[in-house]
Amino acid sequence: MLFIPPVISLYTEKLNSFIMMSSRVTIFTSCNDAYIYLLREGNSQAFPNAVGSKMVNLNTIPPKNGRDYYIALGLEGSANKLGVGIVKHPLLPKHANSDLSYDCEAEMLSNIRDTYVTPPGEGFLPRDTARHHRNWCIRLIKQALAEADIKNPTLDIDVICFTKGPGMGAPLHSVVIAARTCSLLWDVPLVGVNHCIGHIEMGREITKAQNPVVLYVSGGNTQVIAYSEKRYRIFGETLDIAIGNCLDRFARTLKIPNEPSPGYNIEQLAKKAPHKENLVELPYTVKGMDLSMSGILASIDLLAKDLFKGNKKNKILFDKTTGEQKVTVEDLCYSLQENLFAMLVEITERAMAHVNSNQVLIVGGVGCNVRLQEMMAQMCKDRANGQVHATDNRFCIDNGVMIAQAGLLEYRMGGIVKDFSETVVTQKFRTDEVYAAWRD
Ligand code: MG
Repeated sequence: MLFIPPVISLYTEKLNSFIMMSSRVTIFTSCNDAYIYLLREGNSQAFPNAVGSKMVNLNTIPPKNGRDYYIALGLEGSANKLGVGIVKHPLLPKHANSDLSYDCEAEMLSNIRDTYVTPPGEGFLPRDTARHHRNWCIRLIKQALAEADIKNPTLDIDVICFTKGPGMGAPLHSVVIAARTCSLLWDVPLVGVNHCIGHIEMGREITKAQNPVVLYVSGGNTQVIAYSEKRYRIFGETLDIAIGNCLDRFARTLKIPNEPSPGYNIEQLAKKAPHKENLVELPYTVKGMDLSMSGILASIDLLAKDLFKGNKKNKILFDKTTGEQKVTVEDLCYSLQENLFAMLVEITERAMAHVNSNQVLIVGGVGCNVRLQEMMAQMCKDRANGQVHATDNRFCIDNGVMIAQAGLLEYRMGGIVKDFSETVVTQKFRTDEVYAAWRD
């Protein structure tokens, strides 16, 4: 094993492993990227507050116009949801020199979302999704301002936060154009936000979980994350498709509606499964701390197709002797959920053991799934004082207010965009690339 000083984490493709030494833990997990992070020194120039000082001061930048509160507008459009949210943080003395970024006493002044829904059997394409966002963005911003009772954005808004990535290129691009326009129109600074960090900070603020292991599960992301040394570290993640994508694509095979979301409809079907005691066997692909789900999707897709065709040769679905159907569509939904969620629970528990934590925070659209929350709670129950934190669909499904929350934290630490060249959106933007200046 290599010895690495505490402030340096090393990713290396050759070793195909990630080794991090800290005072508390040694972590081994697979990783595809290859680069060295020099912690703290890394992004300190972007945050004047961070230079030469470890102390977090969330009151670095005072609110505009002598107000005693900050207001941020958040714009989210990295996938098929367009979200506009406005958040208010009171200026609190307790934030002067302590890491209380989970306790901003945030008030959500508005949180509006419009989802681009496609017909059953179809997914959403980037071009069509971008068109949806372009068509609705201005209307949603106006509605959010009216709901928050903001009459003069130039005076009343401190910062405009937009999703910089990760996500689908065209939809991200259509929303950042709206953010830049508002910034010029109102003379308000911009902050680009990592979508995953938005989910994490919103979850922390809502649940008040101080330092949980985060399970981020959505249509585009599957990651187990824990905070260490100014960054949210990825402990485990999917090697191919995201869990939400796996569920959505199975919903497409079944041709069930995408309204309100494909995953929600699978969850409802799973609840009605008549043969819960006979789990349909599917691949279980946990690789170290990582997961693979594309093979599971291919496997269950084949079963569904055989079921629809009535292929009696398939002995998993039909009785060998009588030819009687043993498995229903509901059973397939149930088995798929149980299998995937068991994999998630396994890697989350291992991450908890690594960092000696007993709190889990589930964020992302799939985090609304009650069965996943139940399974996670069962695992936590077996650990001393284990707790599961989750939010409802207002906050766990992509929304604007989470972008405002994370962006405002960064703004309060002095991190703003200085030139429009920094507002270029990116489809690939890893959670651990962000320097979390607002955390100790
Ligand atoms: Mg998301």
